[in-house]
Amino acid sequence: MLEIKCPHCGLRSQNEFSYGGDSNTKRPELGKEVSDKDWDNFIYLRDNPRGKHSELWHHVAGCRQWFKVLRDTSTHEIFKTAKLTEEL
Ligand SMILES: [Zn+2]
Repeated sequence: MLEIKCPHCGLRSQNEFSYGGDSNTKRPELGKEVSDKDWDNFIYLRDNPRGKHSELWHHVAGCRQWFKVLRDTSTHEIFKTAKLTEEL
């Protein structure tokens, strides 16, 4: 079982968390015209990297805060966690 260190609560079981995707995905600017293709790419297209990956996680069964995790997708080793306002 994976253990994740929430930057707000400390080390907890993976069961308390929900994966939120790539933390580097940028939403198209609000109020700006976006093509259907660009919108589809934002909604559906994601990289599937092997190795270190910056991710978003949600502490669903804890403080309910979102935070960033730097994790190796092949070994699941977690190198660092950080609040959304902090750098990884
Ligand atoms: Zn927490």
